[in-house]
Amino acid sequence: MAKTQLTPVVRVDEEKCVNCYACISECPVKYCMDASKEKVMINPDLCIGCGNCIVACHHEARLPIDDTARFFSDLKNGVKIVAVAAPAVASVFPAKHLNLNGFLKSLGVKDIFDVSLGAELTVISYLNYIKKENPRLVIAQPCPAIVSYIEIYHPELIPHLAPADSPILHSIKMIREYYPQYKDHKIAVISPCIAKRREFDETKTAEYNVTMLALKNYVQAEKIDLASFPSIEYTGLLAERAVGFSSPGGLLDTAERFLPGIRRKTRKLEGVHSIYAYLIETANALNDPDIEFPLLIDCLNCEKGCNGGPGTGNSLLPVDKLESPIRKRSAELEKRFSAKKQKEQYENYHKQLNQYWKQGLYDRTYVNLSENYDKKTPSEEELTAIYHSMKKYTKADIYDCGACGYKRCRRMAMAIHNGINVPENCAQYTLAILKEKTDTEKLYKLLQENIASASTLINGISSLINKLNDTISSQAETIAHSSDATEKMIDSIRETSGISRSKQASIKNLIGDAVKSQDSMKATIDSIEDIAKSVDGIAQAIKIISAIAANTNLLSMNAAIESAHAGEAGKGFGVVAGEIRRLSESTRENSRNIAQTLKSIIDGIAVTEKQSEDTGIRITSIAKEINGFAETMNGLIDTFNELSTESGEITASLDNLQSQSEMVKTDYAEILSMTEKLRETLHNMSNLSSTETAVDNSDQTA
Ligand code: SF4
Ligand code: SF4
Ligand code: SF4
Repeated sequence: MAKTQLTPVVRVDEEKCVNCYACISECPVKYCMDASKEKVMINPDLCIGCGNCIVACHHEARLPIDDTARFFSDLKNGVKIVAVAAPAVASVFPAKHLNLNGFLKSLGVKDIFDVSLGAELTVISYLNYIKKENPRLVIAQPCPAIVSYIEIYHPELIPHLAPADSPILHSIKMIREYYPQYKDHKIAVISPCIAKRREFDETKTAEYNVTMLALKNYVQAEKIDLASFPSIEYTGLLAERAVGFSSPGGLLDTAERFLPGIRRKTRKLEGVHSIYAYLIETANALNDPDIEFPLLIDCLNCEKGCNGGPGTGNSLLPVDKLESPIRKRSAELEKRFSAKKQKEQYENYHKQLNQYWKQGLYDRTYVNLSENYDKKTPSEEELTAIYHSMKKYTKADIYDCGACGYKRCRRMAMAIHNGINVPENCAQYTLAILKEKTDTEKLYKLLQENIASASTLINGISSLINKLNDTISSQAETIAHSSDATEKMIDSIRETSGISRSKQASIKNLIGDAVKSQDSMKATIDSIEDIAKSVDGIAQAIKIISAIAANTNLLSMNAAIESAHAGEAGKGFGVVAGEIRRLSESTRENSRNIAQTLKSIIDGIAVTEKQSEDTGIRITSIAKEINGFAETMNGLIDTFNELSTESGEITASLDNLQSQSEMVKTDYAEILSMTEKLRETLHNMSNLSSTETAVDNSDQTA
């Protein structure tokens, strides 16, 4: 069995809905309402069309839906239409209901029938059924809302619904059966009821549900004076007391005429608060064989009967005001029957009525629409969870205050379970939240103070961070600068180290040369000493030669003297002696000169020797100095090497420091941004807490 889509009969003006939940409260089925969104909407497949929410809504947000506009439009377009008017028309248009017929005819309606006649026929149908089937219980069904209720919510009662049509359907079927001239006419029903649309949809009988309220509004809006139209009686046999069918008890009054005493076997119920509760009880009691039900349940959905139906706009008028025109009309019609001949006259009348009644013509069957009711019942665990979401933790929290419209917290929980309501719509939930808010008002103030102090702290932190940023920037600059300088220094150390290393070989050569010079100088000194010794030897030899020359000279002189003594014989000898003396003198002279020269040489050699020694000493000293310098140089190179290595480490450290500075800078930026966000959050929190406090106050004021 699939869900059946039902025609909407009530619409919601969302602009006007203020979420007061009066509609839910007054709705007999409640779960046709969806209050989970902004406004309370209707699920037509679960709405029974009782119209109670229209009356309950004091904000004019619930409005009936009918076919009046289409009816007028089709009339204008020449569509052939006959009308049937429900008996409540006499209440809605007091003393003018027959003028209304004149008005409708002026618009083109071909004929107007009185549903009261259909009501007379309905009673015949009921009584025939009772006589024939002797049922345990018959639920009268003039109200389509009651029929829809049973079809959707309690299909177990369908077998007890009177299997006969409503008075309106009796009227329509009578026209279709006994007025063949209207077989190609559409039928408009002048109705007090919005739910009739459902009946027409299900039975496919009438084309227009024209509510009396819509007609009344039309007449007023168009400033139509009904009294100016002729008063035209309904077509066909006139009804008698069934003209009171629109009033509570109208069915019984009529049935009493046919079957006196039936009143005692009948339960009469009106109004959504009575009838639906009673139907639930009845459904629950069906299986109890000990329960004796009333034979007939004369029930009406609306408390004031059809005279105050949702299609009349009169539900809030005093009941006697509503029924007064009906009583007058009934009295007028009853005048036709004199008290003396009443029985006979009624029998005649019933015979006339029976001409319009036919076995099976007015039979009615019903549809089980229980698939439309798809709501799930929560398990106890689910129910507890829903209650918790509604801030209900103990039995004391189950207020059943009815503010949500469901009258019972459990029903509200059921609605939440089925997604057609939300915890926020529970008044006690709202109060609990308000209480929590009130309790936390101090907390808000405290929070605000803390927020303010946190803001101040954050401002301080921000300015410190700004300073830190400057310092870090300058530190980074310095480090970068130092790094450059260190790089340059290292380059220069490397360069100097390289130069020193290259000069180290020269120093080694220099040391070698110095050693060699020292050795040469020593050899030179030795040679000079040897020369001095040789010169000394020559000087000694020259002294000897000089002494020999002196002795030779002395001897030559002695030889000359002897030669002289020897005369001519000695003359040649004297010449030789003279020559020898000159030679010795020359030798002596040369020896003296040589000695003189040698002396100069020896003196020069001595000076040279002295100078060579000095030079040797100096060379030795230079060599020593060079060695010392070379050692210093080596030490210096080692130091440079160490410095270079250490400088590399310094650079690496500086690089590290620089990257750390960068990281600190990045972290700082992040801290700054986080601080900024924190400040913003605190600001928002501060605003929020001020706003919430304001809302609290306004709510409390409200
Ligand atoms: S017409 Fe009746 S059943 Fe439908 S929503 Fe209104 S109160 Fe509920
Ligand atoms: S009765 Fe229903 S439709 Fe009317 S204002 Fe209240 S919640 Fe809205
Ligand atoms: S306490 Fe809440 S859920 Fe219960 S009836 Fe009241 S408003 Fe509805």
